[in-house]
Amino acid sequence: MIVKNAFSEKLSEESKQNWLSYWKHFTDQEYGYCAERNCTKEHQHGVLVTQSSFCQRALFVVPLCKEHSNSFVSQLEIDDGASIVPTELSL
Ligand SMILES: [Zn+2]
Repeated sequence: MIVKNAFSEKLSEESKQNWLSYWKHFTDQEYGYCAERNCTKEHQHGVLVTQSSFCQRALFVVPLCKEHSNSFVSQLEIDDGASIVPTELSL
């Protein structure tokens, strides 16, 4: 599925780490890899995205490797098996 970057500005390194912790807390998957469709690297960052089949304003966290999170500008195709976590959940 295609996701869009929710921020035109890049998130800080610290906030990407925090979002990855958030993702790990809520995901029910043992999925240690970057969510990009063809990527086999381990995820290191959590990034905020929107997904067009849901409400455009709903934000989701997707786990990505550093390379993909740093090069992610507008949109990205992620693996259909990857888990995306909505941000409205509370810790
Ligand atoms: Zn990747």
